[in-house]
Amino acid sequence: MCGIIGYIGNKEVVPILINGLKRLEYRGYDSAGICVLCKNKLQTLKKKGQIIELENELIGKEIVGTIGIAHTRWATHGEPNEINSHPHLDCKNKIAIIHNGIIENHFSLKKILEADGHKIISNTDSEIVAHLIEKFYNENLEEAVIKAIKYIEGTFGLAVICETEEKIIAVRRGSPLIIGIGDNEMFVSSDASAILEYTKKVIYINDNEIVTLTKNNYNVKNLDGNLVNSEVQEIKWNLNEIEKAGFKHFMLKEIYEQAKSIENTLRGRIRENKIKLSVDIDPKLINKIIITACGTSWHSALIGKYLIEKISGIETCVDYASEFRYRNPIIKNNDLLIAISQSGETADTLAAIRIAKNCKTLGIVNVVGSTIAREVDFGIYLHAGPEIGVASTKAFTCQVSALILFALHLRQELGLELDFGLINELILISGKINSILDKADKIQEISSHLKDAQNFLYLGRGINFPVALEGALKLKEISYIHAEGYPAAEMKHGPIALIDENMFVVFIVNRGEIFEKVVSNMQEVKARGGSIITITDCPDDEMIKKLSNFIISVPNTCEELSPLINVIPLQLMSYFVADAKGLNVDKPRNLAKSVTVE
Ligand code: GLU
Repeated sequence: MCGIIGYIGNKEVVPILINGLKRLEYRGYDSAGICVLCKNKLQTLKKKGQIIELENELIGKEIVGTIGIAHTRWATHGEPNEINSHPHLDCKNKIAIIHNGIIENHFSLKKILEADGHKIISNTDSEIVAHLIEKFYNENLEEAVIKAIKYIEGTFGLAVICETEEKIIAVRRGSPLIIGIGDNEMFVSSDASAILEYTKKVIYINDNEIVTLTKNNYNVKNLDGNLVNSEVQEIKWNLNEIEKAGFKHFMLKEIYEQAKSIENTLRGRIRENKIKLSVDIDPKLINKIIITACGTSWHSALIGKYLIEKISGIETCVDYASEFRYRNPIIKNNDLLIAISQSGETADTLAAIRIAKNCKTLGIVNVVGSTIAREVDFGIYLHAGPEIGVASTKAFTCQVSALILFALHLRQELGLELDFGLINELILISGKINSILDKADKIQEISSHLKDAQNFLYLGRGINFPVALEGALKLKEISYIHAEGYPAAEMKHGPIALIDENMFVVFIVNRGEIFEKVVSNMQEVKARGGSIITITDCPDDEMIKKLSNFIISVPNTCEELSPLINVIPLQLMSYFVADAKGLNVDKPRNLAKSVTVE
């Protein structure tokens, strides 16, 4: 989950590392550190807190050099403090490492190393890597790293420097790693955002590959020491796409980008009355579809189940990737496994596709070249542009859009007639989203009444039940207010006991078959004193007006597309509540953007 960056070249390294850390900060932000090869000595500085604290600490310090590594941490082992921050050093301060991942056998390795006389000073799992490399170091860093990682169980993206060699060694198993190739300078990073302003030429490192970077050369080898032919790829994103463009937070910018990002997901994929996806799989041969995902992507998956079953008639089940991987799931050869992940690096989702070896896999991923994107048989890229806000917004609506396309694609390939009413409505959806964003002031005003609330229920039915889950998740993530999503009809089976005058209940209620049923649920909440916030395309309905404390009206659309509309006010509401509470929306406590550890 943490972010790593390394640089070797002719330029002063500290500003490049700090700049890179700032771009990676969304990955982890409990502490940070740098290590620079400065006049043949390793100089390290670490600081608890955000990158700005480290930057302030650097003022007036003589840390200069042209080779260095840096890390922004999201602690898995050991509290966030200076000692536990990376980079970690060996006993003689000659070798420094930064690590993303978890060393699962760190405890037993620690015992062995301590018996050997190594002094391990932190409580992290990562520090033992520096000592293990020290143990094997014999004037060749690359060889020592290869020897060391043979003993490591777990996941790692590692970058290593040492006092006596002008190079950076990087190696990965399970955690993302990318190298950037510049003119007489090289970079290593956990993702492209940190190096984009210096170079667009990158190589995505695969598991069990080791890279040696010097300032004007790189080589990628497998762990047997044989050179690997790696493809140099061009990053398509621009720098302004990863900046805030005048918005107060990335999250708000990304909420506003949704009309455009959905257009990008759809672009070129609806042509001549046909759905064009490069998913070369015959749906007649599919037994069952299994969708695995985590967090917000899991909510998209639930919507995907609804869409695929309704539009194509193919049985679909949804699993949390973290549960799926450990429960001996039944996967038949003719099943199709779909993995949804914004980053394409989510550790559990990646593990899910790795156990589904006997069936075809499809990735719905935003980050081009990410590990999931590379390991699946087929993919649908979201083309949402970089999502930096830790609370996912535009990736969610793009995932739902991609799932609508995929459901239509299945129907088309089954030889069934497509619903062009739905397709035309999909083409119009961006305009409708913008019409909600134009009314953000009203949602901000409503949110100002909610900032002191302690508990929320979010209720929706059918395809909007996952939207209720997503609304509750958004509020929890960034405003730290307790919120739960439920299918509206399930309220009577438990949550109703919680309702009193302190409970806020958000209802998603659209015109259609179950309108009256949801209105009845609203009555039940009102009768118990709860306050109601209604997201609806029927704002003028007498009952809705009577029962709601606040109404947020949304444009009408067909049921299949209603999640794309209904989620927008929920995202805005959680943003405005968190902002009104003065919280750091882009860096919610304890969270990290891409969960690359189990
Ligand atoms: N396990 C390491 C630590 O706790 C790295 C964590 C990470 O990858 O975010 O420091």
